[in-house]
Amino acid sequence: MKKVLVLTLILFYNFNFSQNQQDIYNIIDNVSAERIQQDIQTLVDFGTRNTFSDTISETRGIGAARRWIKSEFDNISKNCDNCLEVFYQKDFVSKEGNSRVPHDAWVVNVVAIQKGTKYPNRYVIMSGDIDSRASNTMNFTIDAPGANDNASGMAGTIEAARVLSKYEFESSIVYVGLSGEEQGLFGGAGLAKYAKDNNWDIIGVLNNDMIGNIKGVDGVIDNRTFRIFSEPVPANETERQRTLRRFYGGEVDGISRQLARYIYKNTKTYMPEMNPMMVYRLDRFGRGGHHRPFNDLGFAGVRIMEAHENYTQQHQDIREENGIKYGDVIEHVNFGYAKKLTAVNAINLASLGWAPPAPKEVAIGGVVEPSAKFKWDKIEGANGYKIYWRDTTSPTWDNSRYVGDVTEFTLDGIVIDNYFFGIAAVGENGFESPVVFPNKVMR
Ligand SMILES: [Zn+2]
Repeated sequence: MKKVLVLTLILFYNFNFSQNQQDIYNIIDNVSAERIQQDIQTLVDFGTRNTFSDTISETRGIGAARRWIKSEFDNISKNCDNCLEVFYQKDFVSKEGNSRVPHDAWVVNVVAIQKGTKYPNRYVIMSGDIDSRASNTMNFTIDAPGANDNASGMAGTIEAARVLSKYEFESSIVYVGLSGEEQGLFGGAGLAKYAKDNNWDIIGVLNNDMIGNIKGVDGVIDNRTFRIFSEPVPANETERQRTLRRFYGGEVDGISRQLARYIYKNTKTYMPEMNPMMVYRLDRFGRGGHHRPFNDLGFAGVRIMEAHENYTQQHQDIREENGIKYGDVIEHVNFGYAKKLTAVNAINLASLGWAPPAPKEVAIGGVVEPSAKFKWDKIEGANGYKIYWRDTTSPTWDNSRYVGDVTEFTLDGIVIDNYFFGIAAVGENGFESPVVFPNKVMR
């Protein structure tokens, strides 16, 4: 009788997981390149979306663009029984003291929240940018179509909302169009502060900035590879945390890096045709993006983007010089690729949205012993836990062991000195939290 029960439970567990895995494949299939194309075209047709451009016109400028984005989110919400909370979140930016601000203005983000059924205060965020720029970022009247930078990320975010609004998630998913990116990451800073002030428990930020270009200035044409940028350790860590790291490790194991590894693994699992490329740095050399203001406040956040950029097609006035066509026009955007990167976002939002919270306290021990030992806090809603480990030189969590519903475990014969370790919580549905690097030592 007991055997039958155990077998039934295992079958139920497997059935549950394969059904949810099927949902992940359906999500990939439901992302539409045509809709992304239409939305990029609509955004391009606003002429310029410079943060300081016209806000009154119905057809041109950032005001018209953000009203259209809000109406799209509102329409999506109507089709899912009002499952989205849609609102503007804004902050005032003044010319004084800001060399790249031509005049005082409100920097307005458009936010759509799909509330979680079980953990409404836990948020996973997908962002794109509303704003665009031409050669001179201060010129807010000249055409700046910003088709790839960053109508692609914005359109991907809207499309992810369309697809995922057909499902319910345990944690909340936020779809957001940020503004003021090109002049100083104002919109991201505003929303990060809003999240902090409202005590959001942020699982992670997936910031999409340029997800549609496959022809690089380096001559490479590639519609499979994309980059995941992540900073190594939180920017706001304490001096004590920095000191402890010298002895216990963690130089490449901050929360944003774990989020990057999560996306890497999930992509490899469900979209094996893709080549996710983790880049071990905050962003491109000396350049920035809207995940950074979240990182500044200690939230996990990464930048997702194409692998091969084309600099003649970003931040450029539309013109022809010496036979080279400059400008971020829609002709250069590959919609099939933007669809794939949107799907990468969607499956990671879904997996994180369906996963239980990660343990907060993870202790590790086993100094001068033959086995590594672990202890962590019990997570309400987790069915079990997985211990991950890897060689110290490996970028990915290559080894794992599911240990069931316990809160301590000893990995026999695995010496603590030779690997890095982490713990993830696993839900009844099979979805996993990001891996947590140990933050306590047992002596
Ligand atoms: Zn840009």
